[in-house]
Amino acid sequence: MTVERYESTTTSVGGLPVRRALPKRDRRTVGPWCFVDHFGPVSEAQSNQMQVGPHPHIGLQTVTWLIEGEVLHTDSVGSEQMIRPGQLNLMTAGRGISHAESAQYSADGSHGVQFWVAQPESTRHGDPAFEHHSELPVVEYGDTLAHVLVGSFAGETSPARTDWPMVGVELVVNAGTFEVPLNPEFEHGLIATAGGITVEEIDVTPGLMTYFPEGRSSLRFVAHQPGRVLFFGGQPFESKIKMWWNFVARTSEEIEEAQQQWNSGSDRFGEVHSDIPLIAAPPVPWL
Ligand code: MN
Repeated sequence: MTVERYESTTTSVGGLPVRRALPKRDRRTVGPWCFVDHFGPVSEAQSNQMQVGPHPHIGLQTVTWLIEGEVLHTDSVGSEQMIRPGQLNLMTAGRGISHAESAQYSADGSHGVQFWVAQPESTRHGDPAFEHHSELPVVEYGDTLAHVLVGSFAGETSPARTDWPMVGVELVVNAGTFEVPLNPEFEHGLIATAGGITVEEIDVTPGLMTYFPEGRSSLRFVAHQPGRVLFFGGQPFESKIKMWWNFVARTSEEIEEAQQQWNSGSDRFGEVHSDIPLIAAPPVPWL
């Protein structure tokens, strides 16, 4: 039962700096979570930089959580939704969806996280869908607030859809010590998005992911300053996934088919209304 530590990859998405905690070569999933991008923070002047044009997804859910700023989401199931801090966007791709995301100008700048969650075999060929949750349960630990993004935590359950046993929680911490309960059947990943915190005597700062295997029923946090921490976990996933570009599948053939269908304008992915130019899929590298 070894704790693992991973350094995030630095990249950019739609013009915003991103720290990518997942996937790693030796750690493809944590529960069903298969992709974790922490974007920003960027200042007011840069805050409308993230302009991501229409692009497709299959076999995954996107979970978007903002700390600062505003992002407009449009998709091929007809959604047009502004998301603000403290709210959750959950988009389910199933057999195919397309969407666009554009950060709006904000005096607070832009800062947030986008996760991808692999869909199990039972739902990954199903219909695409979109949910927005403007209110989520909050658990208080003295000065620390826990926002329950998905799943259940400390007796509170998020209204967000889950296709696989999983949890996602943001802790907004102040100085102090506290212990949070965990489901011992879940593995968990943990990142900091602001400040720093000590968890089980390990320092957690932005740019690092800490992984805790199954078998833990709690985590003890020591915070020396205000900060933000996200943990995400779940039952170890049912199978290996094949992930390339914006697609999560099981085989190379499924990926090749989706790539070809997107680039040929197949109706599999519907249509998105957006002023931002559409993003073509790059060539599949193994062909
Ligand atoms: Mn996307």
